[in-house]
Amino acid sequence: MNQISNMQSDIIAHDAEPTTGWRSFAAHLFAPIKITWGQFFDLLVPLRHSPHIRRHAASVIISRIQLVAALFSVMVPLWSIIDWFVFPWPQWAMMTGLRLGSGLIFFLLAWPWNLTKTRLQADSMLMALLLVPPLFYLLSISITAELYLDGTALLVTKLYALMPNIVLAGLAIFPLTAFEVLVFSTPAFIIAILGLIMDGQSLTLDHHGPMLWLMFLVMGVAMFSGMSQLHYITALVNRAMIDPLTGAYTRRSGGEALDLQFRLSAMANTPMSIAFFDLDKFKSINDTFGHEEGDKALKALADNLRQGLRRGDVLVRWGGEEFVAILHDTTPEGAKIMLERLRTTGFGPRPDGTPMTASIGVSERLADGAHDWPQLIELADQRMYEAKRGGRDRAVLPQGTVLVFGDKPIF
Ligand code: GH3
Ligand code: MG
Ligand code: MG
Repeated sequence: MNQISNMQSDIIAHDAEPTTGWRSFAAHLFAPIKITWGQFFDLLVPLRHSPHIRRHAASVIISRIQLVAALFSVMVPLWSIIDWFVFPWPQWAMMTGLRLGSGLIFFLLAWPWNLTKTRLQADSMLMALLLVPPLFYLLSISITAELYLDGTALLVTKLYALMPNIVLAGLAIFPLTAFEVLVFSTPAFIIAILGLIMDGQSLTLDHHGPMLWLMFLVMGVAMFSGMSQLHYITALVNRAMIDPLTGAYTRRSGGEALDLQFRLSAMANTPMSIAFFDLDKFKSINDTFGHEEGDKALKALADNLRQGLRRGDVLVRWGGEEFVAILHDTTPEGAKIMLERLRTTGFGPRPDGTPMTASIGVSERLADGAHDWPQLIELADQRMYEAKRGGRDRAVLPQGTVLVFGDKPIF
């Protein structure tokens, strides 16, 4: 099963009544949104997340990073007022330099750059956000190492030593899988241990065991919180974005996907094709066999279209029996290969057993010199009508290339 059909079965599973045993327990654990095994796996590792979930989670992560970073960009430099009272001059100046440097990094993270909000951006920003406090702690140790600390100064440096824990607790506000929480926690653990060594302490279980135990506990809480948030985001986004009958993207979410793909493709100067499918004489299925048979045929069509697409390609239900396939990094030649594949698999049977056929229009960003994605859709739509006029059961590609699917015209 590919990602989109996973999504579809997940959505259908939401509507099913919870069963007994583990599923019932898990359903309450993540109540009120029920969970399937597949979804639980997706909360553990980010291997099968669909592009739109990745993108939504990335947007949430980036917005939260910006909020936290904005707060820290003010608080961290301001804290040097407190340092003023506890550290002597050269150390105070060095600490203030450190604070200004950290403040600048937080400021840069908080700045509203015009980001495409990819998962890579979110992960890099998160790693930067998480590394600054513990690194600050490590450097502060080397600055204050020579000092004899007592009273407030000791209290302040002890507070710095809590940085790795604070970072772990902070992870709880992000929608992440268990594996990601583990990866993002690792630097905090390493730095906490390094800090103890730099502080001249030798590691012993009875002295440092409780600290590490607390860190694991905080990480566990962050993990549960991250997984819950991710589950809610996935469930809600899927419900809003996926057409429940066919499992394809809705037109609205398809528009968002087109917008993103178009921008990425223009930035990287790579080709991008779209294929516009309209079933031939579909109305007659409804008229002759009823709406339910029509629905079944639509579902079979969507399943067959997905078979012909690659992982990462996106299928959109553009209208009633019209579908758009977004083919990333695909030239018209590449689109032709996809169409040849579909020609072999077919679009599924009509209720009377005869094969369904479709008229298809293909457009490509570079070959057609398209400036935006609505222009690509417009061209593909026009070519789809050309295919209808040409006798249906065929595809019209850029430069007037025509691919006739069946030998005999239908009807
Ligand atoms: P053509 O070859 O010219 O495309 O003929 P057609 O009959 O496929 O085209 P037309 O656009 O006239 O008809 C589309 C039909 O699709 C109209 C409507 O009854 C049907 N339809 C749209 N959405 C659904 C749906 O969700 N379920 C079912 N069963 N039918 C639908
Ligand atoms: Mg139509
Ligand atoms: Mg039609």
